[in-house]
Amino acid sequence: MTDATAYDLIAIGGGSGGLAATQRAAEYGARCLVIERDGRLGGTCVNVGCVPKKVMWHAAEIAQVLGAAGAYGFTVGEPVHDWATLVERRENYISRLNGIYDRNLNNKSVDWLTGTAQFVDAHTLQVGDELYTAPHIIIATGGEPVVPAIAGAEAGITSDGFFALTERPQRVAVVGSGYIAVELAGVLAALGSDVDLYARYDSILRSLDPMLQEAAIAALVEHDVTVNLHSIPTELRTSGEGLQLSFESGVTGAPADAVIWAVGRRPLTYGLNLDAAGVETGARGHIVVDKFQQSNVAGVYAIGDATGQVELTPVAIAAGRRLSDRVFGGMDGRYLDYNNIPTVIFSHPTIGTVGMTEPQAVEQFGADAVKTYQSGFNSLYYGVQEHKVRSTMKLVCAGAEERVVGVHMIGPGSDEILQGFAVAVKMGATKADLDNTVAIHPTSAEELVTMR
Ligand code: FAD
Ligand code: NDP
Repeated sequence: MTDATAYDLIAIGGGSGGLAATQRAAEYGARCLVIERDGRLGGTCVNVGCVPKKVMWHAAEIAQVLGAAGAYGFTVGEPVHDWATLVERRENYISRLNGIYDRNLNNKSVDWLTGTAQFVDAHTLQVGDELYTAPHIIIATGGEPVVPAIAGAEAGITSDGFFALTERPQRVAVVGSGYIAVELAGVLAALGSDVDLYARYDSILRSLDPMLQEAAIAALVEHDVTVNLHSIPTELRTSGEGLQLSFESGVTGAPADAVIWAVGRRPLTYGLNLDAAGVETGARGHIVVDKFQQSNVAGVYAIGDATGQVELTPVAIAAGRRLSDRVFGGMDGRYLDYNNIPTVIFSHPTIGTVGMTEPQAVEQFGADAVKTYQSGFNSLYYGVQEHKVRSTMKLVCAGAEERVVGVHMIGPGSDEILQGFAVAVKMGATKADLDNTVAIHPTSAEELVTMR
């Protein structure tokens, strides 16, 4: 073992959070190191998350536009899609992004190395035979997909395996009911697979407003995804017909060529030798932090998916930047407010949501103080088409002043519409503020400022 190399800040993990925190700290003159086990930068979002997912989502949207082309007067032959070409181009794009992240670190004089970090003590990390020390260490190790502990589960794949597919499976069973289940089911169905989605309870996307849950199921069904509720898997068997799921109800699933587990993610904290540093974790292995991202050990912080707070890339980035602003930029008291974080599910059409669901608002303010406005309509885009997917939007307002505490929408463009409305919610806009804003016509967004 050589002498330890000293830094001001070390981030364990070169994903969204670790990269953002170190680059911000370096801007303040801190000497920073990123330790990344994967050999490439960008973490989940760039390599096996947001980025490849959004490329696949665009492919699915194009497939749907091609399907609509006839209604707009185009004569197009039966579209032929080559999955392998798409995957190759997607991975080339990701390699370019990996290079850009590498150059960004270089430009800011942030060092990085490939290796798996473990704590030796609260301020010392070991990577192979080398030791690195810093008064400030950020755990930004993200998470990994969960595979259910049932017989035969290893024959299925996770979202990581989905991105490794070099050809499109024809018959697919997606197990789960969250973001990834809905997004991957939508992509596969649009590109021509026969998709069964299995949710264990009576709905999907259960953290969302009930209006969105219902509309999300309707949109999946409209795109030929078979949504199976009350389906708790007990076994995955491989037979001549393919992969077959059994469920607690006694039902057997349709034979599939691929089974995708999309039942959540767990934090990558178990290999860090946290005991050596005395860092506490919660029941599911997440690092316990306060609002300043500070763990129970002084100088050891955690951000992003490793904390199990809100598992989104911009959240990991924002938490990391604010932490460095506070520790290295002299901005005392700076922290990330986890309220009113907007989020989008890249379904078809997209779902956008910020703030409280109606049940959450009723619980907080009481039923009498909550007023909702809702609008359901067919986007003009579907006007000339036989095939239509309904858009629905909902405002949840609270108190006599009708402060907008929740905005929920599903429909084309929801992903892009939401950001601006999230600003309004964060600023405390009231229904009257929305009403006072002149609409943009003809758009879907105008519904949000014209509801009665
Ligand atoms: P990560 O980005 O996961 O980075 C952690 C890094 O730490 C990894 O590179 C890992 O290799 C490394 N690491 C782990 N342990 C060690 C160790 N001991 N030593 C060294 N390195 C280590 N979010 C969105 O906002 N929008 C989306 O559209 C979106 N889509 C997604 C789609 C999918 C399929 C998935 C899986 C996630 C998606 N997310 C999305 C979530 C988003 O990817 C994560 O919230 C985000 O990447 C979290 O950033 P992080 O820095 O906490 O962790
Ligand atoms: P989610 O937490 O979104 O969904 C997983 C769901 O699977 C749970 O909500 C649960 O739903 C269900 N589930 C859990 N255990 C089981 C089980 N044993 N059997 C069957 N179903 C089960 O996790 P994801 O893995 O989909 O995504 C992880 C996170 O990554 C998301 O929460 C999100 O923060 C982020 N992400 C963001 C995206 C975006 O921004 N567009 C896209 C993808 C991921 P229930 O309780 O109803 O059964």
